[in-house]
Amino acid sequence: MSKIIAVAELRDNGLRNVSFETISLAKQWDDESEVVAVVLGTADSKHGQAMIHAGADRAILVSNEQLHTPTAENFTQALMQVINEEQPTGIVFGHTSIGKDVAPRIAGRLNAALLSDVVSIEGQKQDAVFTRPIYAGKAFEKTQGKTETVLVTVRPNNIEVLQTDSSRQGDITVKEVELVDLKTVVKEVVRKVSSGIDLSEAKVIVSGGRGIKSADTFEMLRELAELLGGTVGASRGACDAGYCDYALQIGQTGKVVTPDLYIACGISGAIQHVAGMSNSKIIVAINKDPEANIFSIADYGIVGDLFEVIPLLIEELKQS
Ligand code: FAD
Repeated sequence: MSKIIAVAELRDNGLRNVSFETISLAKQWDDESEVVAVVLGTADSKHGQAMIHAGADRAILVSNEQLHTPTAENFTQALMQVINEEQPTGIVFGHTSIGKDVAPRIAGRLNAALLSDVVSIEGQKQDAVFTRPIYAGKAFEKTQGKTETVLVTVRPNNIEVLQTDSSRQGDITVKEVELVDLKTVVKEVVRKVSSGIDLSEAKVIVSGGRGIKSADTFEMLRELAELLGGTVGASRGACDAGYCDYALQIGQTGKVVTPDLYIACGISGAIQHVAGMSNSKIIVAINKDPEANIFSIADYGIVGDLFEVIPLLIEELKQS
């Protein structure tokens, strides 16, 4: 029976949502293949169980203390040992920092096709056609992998996850791997986040641009984001001006996001920003310039001063 590996990712001891999207994509790709979830790092059986409930047929927890601090080098070595044993026809990663770093290394070692940043799939098995944005989101490319094993990275928040079924059963095995120390993280890893919500997986993002004019205004955006159950993001203009941390930057050289709702406040809509958020399901733009480019991609536009509009939105949401 052919196999597809779905690579899960852990964050703060929980599975990142994109892990479930890798399973869903694997199932859509070939519903007759065995879907094997691979969890690297500080995984335990509850993670394996969750992957099986989400649609995987079995789970492999890859164990080695060095994997507790993920590096592309040790993840690649660990995954290659699983791949050599399992001989999958497909491998699905999240299009995340780690997926973007590890997948090309594995593709290189296997001399296999890598289809990156996939947002949807049509057809099955060898006939499957994967859609991915190109030219900073200006166009979409439909592509097929032609090698024995094909690798795919999936853009978070684009593939509908399968309904969880807690009655699903499957083997969970622990695989010890041998790793050669190619690189060690010698200092503590300090993660910069705006809130507990991961920007690339957030359902609601309130994003500020240079038009917010100060770091203090960011607190107003944060309040709006929290009322909507979301988090804050930014344009590079806002980051360059020192209004917020670069960890929040969305765009071509920042994070790529696909929330259900993206509210752009004082952002002009430069192509490099749009590249990171144009796939958002609903885009709302607040800008005082009616000619601003952001309105050309917005579903709803408010032409006005954000310092008047946002407090009104906050007030309204507090009352509802
Ligand atoms: P501006 O273009 O200055 O726009 C500010 C907007 O705020 C204006 O439209 C204005 O009308 C509006 N405004 C002002 N005051 C108010 C108010 N009171 N109420 C309402 N609206 C108001 N940019 C990114 O964002 N992400 C990237 O990843 C990125 N990568 C890049 C990579 C390269 C190689 C290059 C060259 C550029 C990149 N940029 C990126 C920069 C990009 O080109 C733009 O310069 C940047 O996006 C502009 O940010 P902004 O829209 O916040 O600022």
